[in-house]
Amino acid sequence: MLRYWSASLLLGGIAAGVGLPIAGAAAELRYFQNSGWLVKTASHVLVFDYVEAIPGVKALPTGVALKPEDLDGRRAVVFVSHGHVDHYSPAIAEWAKQRPTIRYVVGWPDSHLPEAHVMKPRETWSPGDLVVKTTGSTDEGVGFLVTVDGLTLYHAGDHARWADEDAEAFEAEIRWLRDGQPVIDVAFLPIATGVACEPRRSIWQGVRFAALELKPRVLIPMHVQCLDKLDLYERFRAEVSAEMGATTVVGPTRRGEQFRYEAGRIRRVQ
Ligand SMILES: [Zn+2]
Repeated sequence: MLRYWSASLLLGGIAAGVGLPIAGAAAELRYFQNSGWLVKTASHVLVFDYVEAIPGVKALPTGVALKPEDLDGRRAVVFVSHGHVDHYSPAIAEWAKQRPTIRYVVGWPDSHLPEAHVMKPRETWSPGDLVVKTTGSTDEGVGFLVTVDGLTLYHAGDHARWADEDAEAFEAEIRWLRDGQPVIDVAFLPIATGVACEPRRSIWQGVRFAALELKPRVLIPMHVQCLDKLDLYERFRAEVSAEMGATTVVGPTRRGEQFRYEAGRIRRVQ
């Protein structure tokens, strides 16, 4: 029963024709800022840690900011890892007024988002059309492992090896995730501190560890909110790529940059 239902959803997603057709294990990805990403799959549109205006950072330009139409044609699921201002803005509750079928999934109890599904660390939620597993975080909230439309994505939220003291807690969550044997298509992991955007050695060491344990097909570095330091993503890629085995590392160079993931490979679209 579920199989036929999923198939019709898939066809519905293609017929909706939002952007390029997305069939099978493919996705379109769009970077917002900091750790904010939009991922369109065959029948879903996922939003992670979207904030339009981070304090001290220029707000997203109109052409980059999420528009309600971006949520059309597919099942919209909005994930928020925790409540810090660089990951969460209460303004996203407005989307549900215009698109009532939207679902919010959050990593802490008092977001006040409409009918939000609250997840604690190391939980699984299977509403039928997707499966969400959470890891704990060395900061607040959770990381999300999402399996949908034949793809598996891991968005770590603020789970990082911020300092050497975090090593044990960081690695424990990554090992727990690995033991579930997910085949991860795309993993999003923080590579710098929040306000100062400092690329600490300890953080990069943690990302290397996670990449080697989880072996995602693609690793996308995130959590650089300083607009004048977005080149950190490329510096990270250049430094670690050779050690990553089969994992491809790619990072955005600007807000609004788009990528396409297909057959285990990722490429820049614009
Ligand atoms: Zn953060």
